[in-house]
Amino acid sequence: MKRIGLTGGIGCGKSTVVAELRRLGISCFVADEVARSYYSDGSFVSDVEDALGEKFCTADGTVDRKAIARKVFSDRRQLDTLNRLVHPRVMSDFGIWCAERQHEPVVFFESAILFEYGLDRMMDAVVTVFLERGERIRRLLQRDKCSVNDIETRMRNQLPDEQKAMLSDYVILNYEGNPRARQVKFIVDKICKPCQCQFNPKTGKIR
Ligand code: ADP
Repeated sequence: MKRIGLTGGIGCGKSTVVAELRRLGISCFVADEVARSYYSDGSFVSDVEDALGEKFCTADGTVDRKAIARKVFSDRRQLDTLNRLVHPRVMSDFGIWCAERQHEPVVFFESAILFEYGLDRMMDAVVTVFLERGERIRRLLQRDKCSVNDIETRMRNQLPDEQKAMLSDYVILNYEGNPRARQVKFIVDKICKPCQCQFNPKTGKIR
């Protein structure tokens, strides 16, 4: 089984690509979704409260995840502290999830902060969804109905997408009107059926 990382900054279109991959019958593990599910586990929430030095349970017993986000996105050290709690658990769950799908040739692991936390080293290849910052902000303003300041605070903790693209094996350009589905299919084909031939840059021919 090949494990492929899918990354890109907030708003670049990762979820849209995940939907595309799932349509092709490919299993995708969405790290953020899985991490969110941990907040229904009381002992995990206590660990978070101990680590961040603050209570986040509201009067009705639910967890105020917005307060956690406010705290960690304005303080890189607190964000690292939270991620040190979340990531080992996410990676362990990813291992279990993969073991349940041993017969599948390829699975994707989606995370916005794959490179930032060295998770790329656990992948066989990495795909970055690329979109320039201004367009990402425009799409996020529509998607999340939040402020530019909120978006920029989150972006500050992520590597620029240009850098992610350079570190990746494949890049999907998600500009409006670009044939995204075709790019996704092309990459999946490449990954699933490793090409036996090689491109010779001197002759410009494939042999
Ligand atoms: P991410 O998961 O990386 O944060 P999303 O997949 O949620 O990003 O995409 C952000 C927003 O942009 C969503 O509202 C999505 O519907 C929209 N979007 C994604 N791809 C395109 C595209 N090619 N053209 C226009 N809008 C897009």
